[in-house]
Amino acid sequence: MKNYYNFVLLLLVMLLTAGCEFDDYDYLEESDNYFDELNENALEFDEFLAITSSGFDSIRVDSNYCYEFEYYDSLTDECVFEVMCDEETDECERVDIIYDEFLLYLENKDYITQDFSISHHGSIEDIDLIVEFYINSNDNLELLMGSDIDEMSMSIWDEFSFLIPDSLRPDLRYFGIFTDGVDETLAYVSQRDYVENPHIWYLAVDYLDYTSQNKEEFYATLIHEFAHIFSLENSQLDYYYEYDCIYLTVDDWCFYENSYLNLFYEEFWKKELYEFHFNLVQELGSEEEAGYELYDSYPSYFVTQYAATNILEDFAESFMMYVLLSNNQIQNSPRVVSTQKIIFFNNFDELKEMRIQIRDNLEKLNKMN
Ligand SMILES: [Zn+2]
Repeated sequence: MKNYYNFVLLLLVMLLTAGCEFDDYDYLEESDNYFDELNENALEFDEFLAITSSGFDSIRVDSNYCYEFEYYDSLTDECVFEVMCDEETDECERVDIIYDEFLLYLENKDYITQDFSISHHGSIEDIDLIVEFYINSNDNLELLMGSDIDEMSMSIWDEFSFLIPDSLRPDLRYFGIFTDGVDETLAYVSQRDYVENPHIWYLAVDYLDYTSQNKEEFYATLIHEFAHIFSLENSQLDYYYEYDCIYLTVDDWCFYENSYLNLFYEEFWKKELYEFHFNLVQELGSEEEAGYELYDSYPSYFVTQYAATNILEDFAESFMMYVLLSNNQIQNSPRVVSTQKIIFFNNFDELKEMRIQIRDNLEKLNKMN
């Protein structure tokens, strides 16, 4: 039995604190809003287990002296690590025991204590980076912002750059590390300087998801992000158009006639989906909500539920499946629109080659793990 909103069930929520002075704080007197906010940040019990069993070699401590998996609550001046546990089983008792052990384990470790200078880049997801690197011409990383280069950032980068070699991504010039906790966003790409250099992209990865997710999901996400990069690069679209764009338009972008995304649009979205999706977004107020509706209405049109979010995600998810599925799996897939979207990429020799190369690298990476 779990409940985020029921006030009575508050006792099920364990407020775990570490690293800060713990003042006596009568939280029961605070407003309901306060609890709603806290509960939004609460981890599921499984997520809690993933963190406490992740065996960090080093733990960062932020400028409020919170461990990296905690958040700082300015209202109480505490670092908070909040877990949803079920009192009817022994979960809550186990949380107490496991977390005490975990803190003891951390005390015996050397921490990287660092005041992060968090800067804002106006990313798509609006998430601040913790560490940022410039990718130089030899595909090596130069630290721009954040802590020293640590092992985890390097191994994430090593795996990505092995999976997707630099020859495939000339416009990717920055790499960042962030976290929004376990799950939610695993990685994203964004333009770093939308005004001056709209064609320069960065990739950001959530290090907590890197440690807690299985590798298969992690690699799949990297392939998805890569699909955004190559389909949104300079050769594909005009980032600021001031004319009547007769091809696919997304925000300020006008895609060129023979761009991958415009061809994908012509084939799969133009006739019925585009307008239907547009109206759903107007009606429901978000692409996420519209995606659920769209997927419900046209389940066989999309390779995943997430693909129905918008055409850019549809393209990225379809490309991801194109790379991940074997020839046999593709041939044996039902003859529906979602499979046609996967086969669409075979129209381009360079994408066929890309698929072979990435599949080959993926196999090598899986052998190494
Ligand atoms: Zn995406």
